[in-house]
Amino acid sequence: MGIIRAKDVVYEYIRRDEEGNVEGITRAVDQVSLDVKQGDFIAILGHNGSGKSTLAKHINAILNPTEGTVWVDGMDTRDDTKTWDIRQRAGMVFQNPDNQIIGQVVEEDVGFGPENMGIPTKEIWERVEESLKAVGMYEFRKHSPNKLSGGQKQRVSIAGVLAMHPKCIVLDEPTAMLDPRGRKEVIRAVRALNQVEGVTAVLITHYMEETIYADKVFVMDGGKIAMEGTPREIFSQVERLKELRLDVPQVTLLAYELQNRGLKLPRGILTIEELSDALSGSGVR
Ligand code: ADP
Ligand code: MG
Repeated sequence: MGIIRAKDVVYEYIRRDEEGNVEGITRAVDQVSLDVKQGDFIAILGHNGSGKSTLAKHINAILNPTEGTVWVDGMDTRDDTKTWDIRQRAGMVFQNPDNQIIGQVVEEDVGFGPENMGIPTKEIWERVEESLKAVGMYEFRKHSPNKLSGGQKQRVSIAGVLAMHPKCIVLDEPTAMLDPRGRKEVIRAVRALNQVEGVTAVLITHYMEETIYADKVFVMDGGKIAMEGTPREIFSQVERLKELRLDVPQVTLLAYELQNRGLKLPRGILTIEELSDALSGSGVR
């Protein structure tokens, strides 16, 4: 069984009036099943309101399914006695870095998690150092987080989660509030912790181009998993992606248009380099 497993998960938000009568029900997650293996890099794509955050909150036992079951490292998230263990196993990084940083100094902030876990001081400092190095923020360890850029703050948040030695990290639109440079820094850090540290990564985003390095991409729509496959399988279905209101990257669109005009190109081009190689291979310069 994978590190994260969801079976037929349904989640409904129930709105009640002052007397407690049900006014309305929103089915935010609708029959979702997932199986994420240890060490995988998974991306969950979807436009606003498609149910991504609601699903993510299940992985950290912030929400419990209305129907179905979620297991994290074999533990049923409904089991209250396991909540602490589950949160240690699966760390969360949210959209706004300002709400996640509490320390006055970067290294102190990163040390909070392991400190709360009762880790001995010497080991805390080792973990702080290795985590900051993993996200490329070690040289900023003595800085005040307030003075950092959005991308740097978000990398500090990621280091704070890493320092708790989770098996899995769930990032809910970690780049949504960042400029293009900050977005690149954060995505690079996520890839490094997955590839170098072997941490399972679940990246939630509405930027398609951030998903090209994922092992597997899930696209959500109306609470359901609408598409599922490798980035190349997903990126080759341009019409379907447009229907799901996703912004298809320009290079993928260009390759698609060229194919429509009769040029022979591989399907699901992901990067400018790939397009350029494919074009030189096809004799077009
Ligand atoms: P996403 O993260 O993909 O934008 P969400 O999981 O936040 O999607 O939302 C999915 C659906 O659930 C939307 O229709 C949203 O309006 C609704 N929703 C989200 N949070 C709440 C809440 N706290 N109470 C009621 N409805 C909510
Ligand atoms: Mg969201």
